[in-house]
Amino acid sequence: MQYGYQCEDCEVAVFPTTTRSELQWLKDRVHVAREVAKHSANGLDTWIMDGLGFLDEHTGHSIVVVSRRSGR
Ligand SMILES: [Zn+2]
Repeated sequence: MQYGYQCEDCEVAVFPTTTRSELQWLKDRVHVAREVAKHSANGLDTWIMDGLGFLDEHTGHSIVVVSRRSGR
């Protein structure tokens, strides 16, 4: 199973390579993660950058953590 974020307003989703609990963690602490990102130019994991990018793009929208089967 893969986990990702879905925007219920735009009906788009991303599936960064990470666990459900990490996605939930990032979603709850976007502003903290954003501060960390500012101060570490290349020290952050790709999934954090991908996740933050999505959350930024959909600020104020309804974001949920979703799952999908990998490999279809
Ligand atoms: Zn959206």
